[in-house]
Amino acid sequence: MLKKCRLVFLGPPGAGKGTIAKIISEKTDIVHISTGDILRNAIRKNTQLGIKARSFVEAGNLVPDDIVADMVGKRLLANDCIHGFILDGFPRTLPQAEMMKIKLEKLKVSLDIVIFFDTDRELILKRLSSRIVCRGCGATYNKLYMPPKVEGVCDECGGELYQRKDDSPETAEERLAVYEVQTAPLIKFYENENLLLKIDSNGDRNSIVKNLMKELD
Ligand code: AMP
Repeated sequence: MLKKCRLVFLGPPGAGKGTIAKIISEKTDIVHISTGDILRNAIRKNTQLGIKARSFVEAGNLVPDDIVADMVGKRLLANDCIHGFILDGFPRTLPQAEMMKIKLEKLKVSLDIVIFFDTDRELILKRLSSRIVCRGCGATYNKLYMPPKVEGVCDECGGELYQRKDDSPETAEERLAVYEVQTAPLIKFYENENLLLKIDSNGDRNSIVKNLMKELD
């Protein structure tokens, strides 16, 4: 069991938060909660949440704070969060961070650490434009850095791999701009809360995971 088990992964899209969260979650009993995955699933299934979120997600904009905070608040009540969680992609605005603080206080828990994935812009754009996702199970690959065994086919479920609409070059630029304005201020916010740990996310994922596991232990 890791000493630090209630985590937030903060950083721009394409910083590798999801990939690293998945690996750490598989090595431990900490659950990986990706708000992007929850929203994409809801959109795929055309649920009420999906209908509300679709236009924002496809345009590369943020889904309104109250919708996402409510969604995460419910998710944190599930039993599997008891051993800890990695929030990947949440919070993304100051109001979301404030709302989460209140929700966690009600649950009588608090965050242990916020990891900021520091990544060069050029690398982010390269990673996003080569990222592909499974239509069936949502597994993520990268044509350059983590290709599937068979081109266009998911290793895990055999589903079809596609490029997310919001990873197209224009929308990726838009998401980065949204990140700078709305999300980057959270770096200062969590620094002030004495929770921030900055890591260099430009390197290979094995060394990032190794360093991170040491920090959490
Ligand atoms: P991601 O997979 O984390 O890059 O998220 C994909 C998209 O889902 C984002 O571009 C937003 O449209 C939406 N989204 C995910 N998390 C949030 C959040 N915390 N607040 C608002 N929108 C979000």
